[in-house]
Amino acid sequence: MYYVEKERQIPVVSDYDVVVVGSGPAGIGAALAAGRMGAKVLLLELTGSVGGISTTGLMSHFTGTCDSKIYWEILDRAAKKNYFPCSDKVVIDPEMLKNTYYEMLTEANVTVLLYTVVCDAIMEGDKIVGVIGQSKCGRVAYMAKVVIDASGDGDIACRAGAAFTLGRETDHKMQPATLMFKVGGVDMDRAVFLGSFESTYETPRGELQALAHKILPKPAGHVLLYKSTIPGIVTCNMTNVTDIDGTKIEDLTKAEIVCRSQMQPIVEFLREYVPGYEKCYIISAASLIGIRETRHFHGLYTITEEDIYQARQFDDAVVYGAHFNFDVHNITGSGLDKTGKQKFFDQEKGYTIPYGCLVPEKIDGLLLSGRNISGTHMAHSNFRAMPICVGIGVAGGIAAALAAKKGCEVRDITAGEIQKYL
Ligand SMILES: Cc1cc2nc3c(=O)[nH]c(=O)nc-3n(C[C@H](O)[C@H](O)[C@H](O)COP(=O)(O)OP(=O)(O)OC[C@H]3O[C@@H](n4cnc5c(N)ncnc54)[C@H](O)[C@@H]3O)c2cc1C
Repeated sequence: MYYVEKERQIPVVSDYDVVVVGSGPAGIGAALAAGRMGAKVLLLELTGSVGGISTTGLMSHFTGTCDSKIYWEILDRAAKKNYFPCSDKVVIDPEMLKNTYYEMLTEANVTVLLYTVVCDAIMEGDKIVGVIGQSKCGRVAYMAKVVIDASGDGDIACRAGAAFTLGRETDHKMQPATLMFKVGGVDMDRAVFLGSFESTYETPRGELQALAHKILPKPAGHVLLYKSTIPGIVTCNMTNVTDIDGTKIEDLTKAEIVCRSQMQPIVEFLREYVPGYEKCYIISAASLIGIRETRHFHGLYTITEEDIYQARQFDDAVVYGAHFNFDVHNITGSGLDKTGKQKFFDQEKGYTIPYGCLVPEKIDGLLLSGRNISGTHMAHSNFRAMPICVGIGVAGGIAAALAAKKGCEVRDITAGEIQKYL
């Protein structure tokens, strides 16, 4: 059954060249790059803060790397704000990272609107000419010369009719979801930090990954513990929920509830079995559930596992020096998926991403950005790392600003033009 909404007039805002949907690492990169190119940029974000998974998702650290000046600038500036000097700039203090993003966005003259869910695309044929934002002020039409979809899930590319594959190609299953949380009260001199599924630690009562697999409520069952920037506080990437479609609110809600039900058993496990955590306690959990994978849009080029494994250098590259492993979390349980490669990923060279991965096959006026670009399930497990998402965002921001200035379609911008500004 359907309810037919009444036609109504809504305000129109036409002040912007580029509208960026979503302010995760990709949206931040895109908004900063476009703003620095002189474009008038509006950044729309559904939560109460910028940063997406990197901040609101309470992320531990940037993994992998990317040759992106803006990415390195973010790290340098955020690290300077930390109260406790941390030897590794990739470790995140979410509050300091948020403040860094706001500073940089303000300097780049980007207008930010929080608490706004972008719920529809305004189309003229196959071209997106704006988006509809829904907030406590009602609905507003934000017109744009170029829309960059950096919503992670590609909500607006989907609304615009861009073609996509949900999850992995064979069965559309997606990587599990995780609610990140932090514990305090950790004895840092004795604390154990297990940074990958393949890291193990023997205790008199058994090996920690094996104990977690046996004791934690399934589908939780692995240990991933990361130092934060603050002594005594550790970030836990240990809740785990499978069979979640992050484009459905029912599944998002289920993921939140299941992960929360695992938090206390995990802390009990840490207190009982993990050296240094005997007196730990929960201090906060992310206010944005961590969705790793949803839609993979079909672009002019689709980056593959082979491209990454061969560290392919494309002539029309717009992202350089991207490096990470195939981080596929177990689709059916805890730990690493059998297709994943962390320790055994043996390509040390960085790969490139061609511009075509950001340009949807058919829809005009639109660029993809971040984890939703055109790539296979396996390739995505690599380029979803946040440094690479920033690099992708920057390339899209430059392309959008150029297209807005020239009054042409984003698909008519060449990679060569973008490369000049990277
Ligand atoms: C649990 C977990 C652990 C991870 N661990 C690491 C790690 O250790 N290191 C690492 O580098 N990477 C890690 N990743 C991967 C990385 O965090 C993501 O792949 C990356 O953040 C994707 O960036 P993005 O900008 O594309 O999307 P996101 O970070 O997801 O940001 C999307 C933004 O868009 C907003 N949004 C969504 N829909 C709408 C809408 N309709 N309207 C308005 N706004 C909208 C969201 O609120 C969000 O702010 C992890 C991911 C998860 C989920």
